Amino acid sequence: MDLTDTDDEAAFRAEARAWLEVNKPRDPLPSGNTAEGFAVNRVWERRLFDSRWAVVSWPEQYGGRDATLFEWLIFEEEYYRAGLPQRVAQNGIFLLAPTVFEFASPEQRDRILPRMAAVEDVWAQGWSEPNAGSDLAAISSRAVRDDERGGWRLSGQKTWTSRGAFCTHLFGLFRTDPDAERHRGMTYFLLPLDTSGVTVRPVDVLDGDAAFAEVFLDDVFVPDADVLGEVNRGWEVAMATTGSERGLSLRSPGRFTAEAARLVSLYRDRGDQGDATLRDAVIRAWIDTEAYRLNTLQTVTRLADGARIGPESSLNKVFWSEMDVALQEAGIRLLGADGERTDTTWMKGFLFSLAGPIYAGTNEIQRNVIAERVLGLPRK
Ligand SMILES: Cc1cc2nc3c(=O)[nH]c(=O)nc-3n(C[C@H](O)[C@H](O)[C@H](O)COP(=O)(O)OP(=O)(O)OC[C@H]3O[C@@H](n4cnc5c(N)ncnc54)[C@H](O)[C@@H]3O)c2cc1C
Repeated sequence: MDLTDTDDEAAFRAEARAWLEVNKPRDPLPSGNTAEGFAVNRVWERRLFDSRWAVVSWPEQYGGRDATLFEWLIFEEEYYRAGLPQRVAQNGIFLLAPTVFEFASPEQRDRILPRMAAVEDVWAQGWSEPNAGSDLAAISSRAVRDDERGGWRLSGQKTWTSRGAFCTHLFGLFRTDPDAERHRGMTYFLLPLDTSGVTVRPVDVLDGDAAFAEVFLDDVFVPDADVLGEVNRGWEVAMATTGSERGLSLRSPGRFTAEAARLVSLYRDRGDQGDATLRDAVIRAWIDTEAYRLNTLQTVTRLADGARIGPESSLNKVFWSEMDVALQEAGIRLLGADGERTDTTWMKGFLFSLAGPIYAGTNEIQRNVIAERVLGLPRK
């Protein structure tokens, strides 16, 4: 396989690089996990949209460029190479949108996608509950039919909603048939967070940012038009979201190859300080990010040939999350005592990387999926 850019891809890369160079904010963007930082990032992401760089692989009618997934990977490489941060719109554009493309009606697509691309609506993921994390099928938040108004009334509590404190909308799973078997009887709903009956309560975290939220729903009306996929088939819709999230869309290789380049540069500045294991850690991080890039090219090649992402997405998720921890840890070690200061970019990156084996489904759960559904091993 020829892994070099085609002429069209090289032209796309050059255009993206030139645009980012001229248009990226002069000062590094603040964390999107504070109210102020979220607003600043939203303005930046709106600028991406205005020049059609927000969602390059989407159709033009929704604000994209009809770019291929290979070109999307190229854009991501250039984006992170330019030192730009994770997108505050990510849970919408990278998690919900692929599911909208697969399951939504044309009316829903036309209504949801352009506003999502333009960061007018910013989406949060409402799946986890106090008693349903790894075991997502244990959710107890429910939706009761309201025939008179043509919709549903939602009640319950969602937790660990990333950037829920600042987002405008929520996509969530709710139980619509309490008598059905655990994985049946759930429905996927879409709702604005300012709907009457919704209370969003920010959750403080150790690094001081307060974007996490708990979301309480008290008899919240959602019309039929905002059900995604079929009623009582929400599990299948949710599994499509997790497949693309874990297998491709949430963590593109560009983010890690840029970090590995930063790590190599730090190593060149600081040297291994007499500790050969540090050099090994830097080399390992570089090789792993490159392997991840190549593996992603393979995934995208398969998708271009018409394949769907299946349970092997769990292998991907375990790999990038553990690779990120090791990479960030190498950075902290290279910094020595300077790395202990929590205001450094490396320390922030390290602390966030520790959450990687937990969010998007814990790595223990991914290993169960790999054992049972990829390797075909018995459940016990
Ligand atoms: C940074 C971050 C962002 C997040 N963002 C969101 C979000 O936006 N929306 C959302 O809905 N959720 C979000 N989450 C929640 C996340 O999905 C859950 O934390 C995760 O699914 C684990 O659930 P839990 O916290 O309830 O842990 P539990 O399910 O209670 O698990 C506790 C421990 O037991 C292990 N365990 C549980 N069951 C098994 C098993 N069968 N076999 C082996 N080990 C097992 C787990 O691996 C884990 O180590 C986020 C979490 C983090 C850390």
